[in-house]
Amino acid sequence: MALLITDLDETLLERRAALRRWATGFAADRELPDGSVEGILEEDRHGARTRAQFVDAVNRRFGLRPPLTLAYLADYVACFELSDAAAAALVEARSAGWRIAIATNGDQPQLDKIDHVGLRPLVDGIAVSDLDGVRKPDPGLLLLAARRAGGDIEGAWMIGDDPVNDIQGAHAAGVRSVWLRRGRTWPVDLEPPTVEATSFAAAVEDVLRAPG
Ligand SMILES: [Mg+2]
Repeated sequence: MALLITDLDETLLERRAALRRWATGFAADRELPDGSVEGILEEDRHGARTRAQFVDAVNRRFGLRPPLTLAYLADYVACFELSDAAAAALVEARSAGWRIAIATNGDQPQLDKIDHVGLRPLVDGIAVSDLDGVRKPDPGLLLLAARRAGGDIEGAWMIGDDPVNDIQGAHAAGVRSVWLRRGRTWPVDLEPPTVEATSFAAAVEDVLRAPG
């Protein structure tokens, strides 16, 4: 069956917006000074830090007593939302005969987010790097997600926001790709995606319209 593989954070779900919602609530609870929400977002380094490094950095920056701990993840996960547009795009793709697979780098919180926003019944297979032992851009994670979804890797598409993990991973798996540019320009030193799009829903439209 036709197969659409998708990344999770900043592709299907707005990770930065969720982090901002969490940070806003946290800063208010702890009565942190003005500008603290931006400071917390800065310490996230756009997800480049591990969660433990993020917690340490926030504790150092604000001298928190009691310290922030990894228990924040429960509140953070609860800040994620699935947009109506993204949900509708998944439903449309499935009704057009596509299987949907999620291939995401990360750990258990990725599954917690998926469950929190109600994504699980909208997709056919999920692969999470730290739980499955293979990490994008290794094409193994895409292939595993594809197998779980019961879709054909031949003729498949990958949608994602990360030029290396998602798009070079797609090239390595031999599948076409849509890059969510999110206001950026494509890095010139990397093999470009098949197409670029400005939202997940627009990316799905591109895939459904593309010749087989
Ligand atoms: Mg992403």
